[in-house]
Amino acid sequence: MEPRILLVEDETAVVFIVSDLLESAGYIVESAGDGEHGLQMALDKPFDLLILDVGLPGRDGFEVCHAVRERGFDGAVLMLTARGEVPDRVQGLRGGADDYLVKPFDSDELLARVASLLRRVRKEQLTPVSQFEFGGVRVDFTRGELWKGKNPVELTAKELELLRYLVNRRGQTLTREDILHHVWREQAFVTPRTVDVHIAWLRQKLEDKPNTPQHILTVRGEGYRFGK
Ligand code: CA
Repeated sequence: MEPRILLVEDETAVVFIVSDLLESAGYIVESAGDGEHGLQMALDKPFDLLILDVGLPGRDGFEVCHAVRERGFDGAVLMLTARGEVPDRVQGLRGGADDYLVKPFDSDELLARVASLLRRVRKEQLTPVSQFEFGGVRVDFTRGELWKGKNPVELTAKELELLRYLVNRRGQTLTREDILHHVWREQAFVTPRTVDVHIAWLRQKLEDKPNTPQHILTVRGEGYRFGK
């Protein structure tokens, strides 16, 4: 299936040029002219990539990015920034964006970034595993069973879901917010601390030395990562 892209941009000329370019490259493109409308479309339909202009009427690109991530959007986000907004780049990437492009940009550059982001997203979406082994632990996510060596280990439904999320995104640093949105979704009464507590329980059950974990790693100041 062709990748679906949502372009949120208020400059009509840019919308025409970029949509044309992406469509002729074989992508399905929809567009919105302001942040509010863009956010609604991003939540209503499945998109693989959002291209967000930073300077938008109403909600700006950062707010849209933050809002879609908060609701569990796990596609890629490419921010378009104007020259002079350079310090904002960091804000964009921290706010859940994956990449940025400074306007005016070259069309080949745009296509290259889009292709690379989509490759990444598709790869992430293709990695889910039903069985997995690490450090003497064997887990069958489909049956909800786990063994450490020869001993069965009881995990709660939440612990299993958290482990599955970590394993499916192994090698990637995940913030507490990422984890909360994907594993706990919209449940009330959860805080980033909830993540820490469940991580500690998983380590207790699965790691040989829970205080010096080899698999469920802490990434200082950022979050957690499964594996190196
Ligand atoms: Ca703009």
